[in-house]
Amino acid sequence: MVKKIVKKENISFKCKSEEIPLTRKELKNLLNFRIPCLCCGREMLHPEEYLKLIHIKELAGPSELVIQILEPYEKIMYPVERQVFNMLRNLSIKYPNRNFQQLLLLKKDVHELALVRIQSIIFNKISFYRRILPEKESKKLRNLMIKTNDIIFDPQPKKPFSRRIFISKIKHILKNLHNKKMRHEIIEIARRLPRSSDEVCAFVVKNARKRAEVIALNLIHPSVGTFEHLQPKSQKGANNSLNFALECSYCNNSRHHFPIPVQIEENPYMPANAQLQADKLISLYKKNIGSKEYIKNLKNVLYTLSNQQIDIDISKLDE
Ligand SMILES: [Zn+2]
Repeated sequence: MVKKIVKKENISFKCKSEEIPLTRKELKNLLNFRIPCLCCGREMLHPEEYLKLIHIKELAGPSELVIQILEPYEKIMYPVERQVFNMLRNLSIKYPNRNFQQLLLLKKDVHELALVRIQSIIFNKISFYRRILPEKESKKLRNLMIKTNDIIFDPQPKKPFSRRIFISKIKHILKNLHNKKMRHEIIEIARRLPRSSDEVCAFVVKNARKRAEVIALNLIHPSVGTFEHLQPKSQKGANNSLNFALECSYCNNSRHHFPIPVQIEENPYMPANAQLQADKLISLYKKNIGSKEYIKNLKNVLYTLSNQQIDIDISKLDE
């Protein structure tokens, strides 16, 4: 008898925990309402708006026309992308028949020099630590820096420099370093390496290798809203709205499979931005858009997975 009751309770608990507060469609629908990204806080574009752009063949053609097609999206472009767009618009006045790649190539050399200048200052700061690191780490760092310098000082490297790979290599070299403060210092310096999302020169260098239509789409793509798996799929995170947060493509792609505390290290304003998003979700809920259960669950999941670093206030939900 007792056994039966216990079993019954288990079943009812299981059912309750599997109740999904929003369908994928309902969650995606929220992206029609200028939701700020959970991580960077910037307003996101609905993915269907972006899909319409992918099918426009003219993006590969004369820049004069591409500028007209993209102008309505200028407002939602991220700061670097907007600066590049303005640069392309100015170039297009002079060379209306050239495509975006041809225009970007006109500017590549000067931006590449600017980028290498910034990178080499940072690499020098990192190389300084060879003087004070233990022998084993110092040797490994020396090898990494020789290889890295070969890439950035070669005008035509076989493989372009990748900031992401460089930082993960630095972390790997320093993973057993006892001096945690020094480890943190070196990684922080490496993080100052320019990203295409925060330096025009890095954007131009990265994108000048791409096809004209890809460059055009890359001006918009970072702003597209996506479902971020809060618990990564690779760690058996659920594939439904109990485990989804709305995040822009840029933040979603740059997180990879890293846990949320690592994402906060890279984006120290994430806890404040998560609050911005929650406030927006609450105000929509008050207009009967979205779901209360979704917001409550988001709060709990974020709190747990961020090691209590993201503690959003949802008291307005019950006001
Ligand atoms: Zn973002």
